[in-house]
Amino acid sequence: MNSISIFGVFVADLCFFGNKIPTRGETVLGNNHLVGPGGKGSNQAIAAARLDGNVKFITKIGKDSHAEMALSLYKEAGVNTGSVIQDPSLSTGVAGIMIDENGHNAINIVAGAAGHLQNIDIDKNLDVIKDSKIFLTQMETPDQTTMYALKKAKENNCLTILNPAPARKIQKEDFSLLDFFTPNETEAEFYLNKKIETKEDIQNAAKEFLSMGVKNIIITLGAKGVYFENKEENYFIDALSLKDEVIDTTGAGDAFNGALAVALAKGSNYKDAIIFANKVGGISTTRLGAASSMPLLKEVEEY
Ligand code: ADP
Repeated sequence: MNSISIFGVFVADLCFFGNKIPTRGETVLGNNHLVGPGGKGSNQAIAAARLDGNVKFITKIGKDSHAEMALSLYKEAGVNTGSVIQDPSLSTGVAGIMIDENGHNAINIVAGAAGHLQNIDIDKNLDVIKDSKIFLTQMETPDQTTMYALKKAKENNCLTILNPAPARKIQKEDFSLLDFFTPNETEAEFYLNKKIETKEDIQNAAKEFLSMGVKNIIITLGAKGVYFENKEENYFIDALSLKDEVIDTTGAGDAFNGALAVALAKGSNYKDAIIFANKVGGISTTRLGAASSMPLLKEVEEY
């Protein structure tokens, strides 16, 4: 199968559960602690591999226990780790997540090794990018390196997908590097600096992204599904009507993007690829967590 290179971040999520999130100077006694895998790039790589995608993940981690967690997870999911750079002088990224009894959280992310990703790391993995049909990335890696990677992917004829999460500034000229741009509504609002509320707002927003140089715009709409537009066609697709209850929407966007990459790598037409991604995103909301909520291909086919 055509390969997919995914460039992004792994962090270990260190979750602290308690009645409340401590305020400045305060110590609280929590009631639970979990350590799990996080980072959007890593979640998307796992999503794609669980759907039988041929995934190569480009990232940087340390040589510590969190790095071991990442590597064993990739082994289990079937993510190729040949392009995972391990730097023993750096710590693997971590996110400290405090969660109160209402599920509200406060998060402090230290990107660690992944924050040190540089253009040279892309150059070292140029063969991986060259061999890929699809290149998928997000905005958690250092901006300059993210854009350099997209440029190299484009030069090597990959179909590029940028999931702009978290939303951060993109230079005007860089939008033309994007074959697919996949913001959610909030991210789309950030880039266009205006509220997006009605269907008409969504369609107008899509047109603006196309005029900025994006080839295909996909705006994900949470429980409302997704909107697609390019020069030839445009359509809304309703969210999957779920057989199970929505219990955790964390990682829905990651599931969507991982699945989109897999379908495009297989050569599906754009509409079928988006329908597949919409289904996978939907299923992920019926399961707890991010990486742990990514369905297997068989589960998607049977849903
Ligand atoms: P993000 O997780 O990046 O904020 P969205 O919330 O837009 O992104 O979700 C991404 C995709 O996941 C949606 O476009 C849709 O396909 C699916 N999805 C999200 N929430 C639901 C839901 N409540 N019911 C069904 N599908 C959902």
